[in-house]
Parts: sequence; structure tokens; C-alpha cells
Amino acid sequence: MIESKMNRRGFFSTLAKITGVAVVAPAALSAVFSSTAEAQKKRGGAPAAGGAAAGGMPMVDPNDSVAKAVKYVEDFKKAPEAKGNDCMGCGFYAKKEVRNGKEVGTCTIFAGKLVYGQGWCASWNKKA
Ligand code: SF4
Repeated sequence: MIESKMNRRGFFSTLAKITGVAVVAPAALSAVFSSTAEAQKKRGGAPAAGGAAAGGMPMVDPNDSVAKAVKYVEDFKKAPEAKGNDCMGCGFYAKKEVRNGKEVGTCTIFAGKLVYGQGWCASWNKKA
């Protein structure tokens, strides 16, 4: 007789073998998301997971691939290439709000995220 019932561990084990994908426990996922949210909070933004609902648009992470590609920095003074220019003087920038005492706004390059008004990147384009 074929065993028709499979316990939970057996089910996930079989699923992993068939799909080749490890099944991650919800507790492990929770730890990953909470550490990401904590890192985002330190940058003055809303949590990455569900950030829009929890408190507005998230800040651009200077370590994400697009930010690195355009050499985005949160403080133009840390980028000698900026030559005194910042996001507030860039044509791609639009003021949104003040967050943690600093002006932040949208940038055409980073859809759905905010940059610091005093930030800068290599795509800086003088505001008309
Ligand atoms: S494109 Fe302009 S507003 Fe956007 S990050 Fe670069 S300098 Fe700042």
C-alpha cells in the first residue's frame, strides 16, 4: 500500500528535491527583513519591506547597483567630483519633504525612492 499521507517535513523535503530550491523557514526570512528594515531606518528612511505603507518612500541605498553605477553619495561634500553641486541644484530633483531635519526629494533616476537634497551623483545636470 502506498503511503498517501506525508508529514510536513517530508513534504518540504520532497519539494526541495523536486524544485532544487531550499525552503526557507519563515523565522529566517523574518530575521533578514528586520535587519534590512533596521539598516534602512539608520539611513532615515522607511523600512524596506512595506516601506510605502509604513511611512513613505524609502531612501536610495548608496550601496545598491544603480546608486553605485552613478556614484551616488548622500552628502555631496564627500565627493570631490561634485564640485560643490548637490541634488537640490539638479534638474532631475524635486523636493518632497524634510526627513530627520534634511530635505529629501525625488529623482528621475531613482523611481520610487528619495534622495537627499545634499546628495549628488555623476548624472548631475544643472537645473534650468
Ligand atoms: S540625478 Fe541629480 S537629483 Fe538624481 S541623484 Fe544625481 S544629482 Fe541627485
